[in-house]
Amino acid sequence: MQVVDTIIRLFDSQGHEAYFGEPVSQREHALQAAYLAEQDGSPGWLIAAALLHDIGHLVHGQPEDLADRGGDGLHEDAGATWLAPHFGPDVVRPIRLHVAAKRYLCAVEPGYLSALSPASALSLRLQGGPMDAAEAARFASDPHHGPAIRLRRWDDRAKIPGLIVPGVEHYRKHLESAHRSQELTDQESAGPPHEAGPRANRS
Ligand code: FE
Repeated sequence: MQVVDTIIRLFDSQGHEAYFGEPVSQREHALQAAYLAEQDGSPGWLIAAALLHDIGHLVHGQPEDLADRGGDGLHEDAGATWLAPHFGPDVVRPIRLHVAAKRYLCAVEPGYLSALSPASALSLRLQGGPMDAAEAARFASDPHHGPAIRLRRWDDRAKIPGLIVPGVEHYRKHLESAHRSQELTDQESAGPPHEAGPRANRS
């Protein structure tokens, strides 16, 4: 479970960084998103995805004023790519799609765009703005688009200053079981243990 310990250390060491113009830190934002997912009665893999959805910011250590300076860090791709060797598509795909989900909701849901926080509205422009009809149809055909939209809604709400929520260790069980199910999938697709090779040993 090395990667789970690495993730918890990342939140401990870098989670204090500001969350891009919002009144919460990266760690507070992640913990609130996971808390909202848990409150909604979500399965463990989706709670894990909510906790990890912005980990791309932590693994890349991007400066907090990125959006103000006109750059799009593509944090969703950075995070999903970093997580992909350790977690299955149920966890990774909604993370990769959580910015696309914002662009989708702006296109299809009246009132969604106007309810975005100022920082989220600013980053929307850098992320390509609302989807056009073809992009929205393509997004809606992705089998993971439903969880990505749920994740997006927690993401949008997880910006409450001072909200008391459980810490990162509370979610260790979900991270470990999501990680374990990916290891089992790896082993099944790699064949019997003596043929499995180095992939079966990775953490
Ligand atoms: Fe977020």
